[in-house]
Amino acid sequence: MAANCIFCKIIKGEIPSMKVFESDKTFAFLDINPLSYGHALVIPKHHGAKLTDIPDDSLTELLPVAAKIARASGAENYNILQNNGRIAHQVVDHVHIHMIPKPNEQEGLGISWPQQQGNKENLQKLQEELKAKM
Ligand code: AMP
Ligand code: ZN
Repeated sequence: MAANCIFCKIIKGEIPSMKVFESDKTFAFLDINPLSYGHALVIPKHHGAKLTDIPDDSLTELLPVAAKIARASGAENYNILQNNGRIAHQVVDHVHIHMIPKPNEQEGLGISWPQQQGNKENLQKLQEELKAKM
């Protein structure tokens, strides 16, 4: 827990939230300023700003709980989003997974997808570099 973290305060009940799920390691609640009806957040109780700061055993429930909420919401189309770092659109520095229903073009997540032409040689070099560090 981090003293000044708004999501740690939500977990402790010091700040109210619209909770939809809680277990030993996981907490889920409605986003206060939703992109669409049903927008919810799933967070580990372990405090950490980025995905890479969280131990594996606190990550395992996050996607299953996001899937449960997606099912419960009845959303046919939805995005699962997890932002890390300011330039990557992270505002709250406690890891959170967004479950965002996409009911139509206007509501829900809007995405820019600036694809670049793939270069086979560069991709193969990258593949080897990453594989060696996994
Ligand atoms: P991100 O840009 O990925 O850091 O998203 C942070 C999200 O947290 C935003 O969608 C906010 O609307 C949401 N949020 C911030 N404060 C609260 C709160 N007190 N209760 C519920 N959601 C919140
Ligand atoms: Zn926190």
